[in-house]
Amino acid sequence: MAIFNNVIEILQLLDKSNCKKCGEKTCMAFAGAVLKGKKKLADCPAVDRDTVQLYEDVDEQRPSREDELQEAIVAIQKVIKKLDFPEVAKRVQGSWSDEKLTIKIMGKNLSFDADGKLFTDLHVNSWVLISSFNYVVNCKGVPVSGKWTPFRELPNGKDWQRFFSHQCEKPLKKIIDEQTDLLEDIVTLFSGQQFPHEYQSDIAVLLSPFPLVPMLICYWKPEDGMGSSMSLFFDETAEDNLSIEGLYMLGTGIVQMFKKLALQHGSVAHTN
Ligand code: SF4
Repeated sequence: MAIFNNVIEILQLLDKSNCKKCGEKTCMAFAGAVLKGKKKLADCPAVDRDTVQLYEDVDEQRPSREDELQEAIVAIQKVIKKLDFPEVAKRVQGSWSDEKLTIKIMGKNLSFDADGKLFTDLHVNSWVLISSFNYVVNCKGVPVSGKWTPFRELPNGKDWQRFFSHQCEKPLKKIIDEQTDLLEDIVTLFSGQQFPHEYQSDIAVLLSPFPLVPMLICYWKPEDGMGSSMSLFFDETAEDNLSIEGLYMLGTGIVQMFKKLALQHGSVAHTN
């Protein structure tokens, strides 16, 4: 099943001839079937193969599904058992006490013991958990440069850009478009900082998912007939301290956390 939010997104990709070659009576019916996962975009012969590949491969190749995530967690816990935790604590700018390694993740403590068992008050999802393990294992301890770059311009960013765009950038922009004031909650809840209009944005929020992996969200409100826009930046050193897959998982996990927050925020707003 490809990644679509509604039938209109799918309908826009069809030629709307209602030719029935897909086995559905209308293009609209076909779009509905694709959305429900009963048909694939490739079942319409009028959609060119590049478009099919762009949308359907993202889902088929997308790393990773929940069962794969759980397998990855078990595998990486075995690696963690072999780490020299006091050394790791210095390298990742964490701390080591009471037989636990602690790192700050968006201002909250997240600790592991030597078996990779997790202790935290933060409600982390599997994506964020794996990227935390990835950070602990792969972080080279390279200091933050203070120079921002978009994900696609990181050394291996191009290879992962499609996934990152679908799983992270587009859904994050949608959340902010619908609930722009949520960024204020994000700053408060996740120890972020409002930045003074970086890149002439209307709102810029600095987050520290890990001590050596900061992230900058810049948002430009719609203006003069132009739509809104949003960009996510990482420090130029990001891939020295977290692999590109780890950055993709981190972004995806954080956006999922924000989605939950947006749902709560929306329901509170509606009751006020
Ligand atoms: S084959 Fe494609 S163009 Fe023809 S009805 Fe189905 S969706 Fe529409």
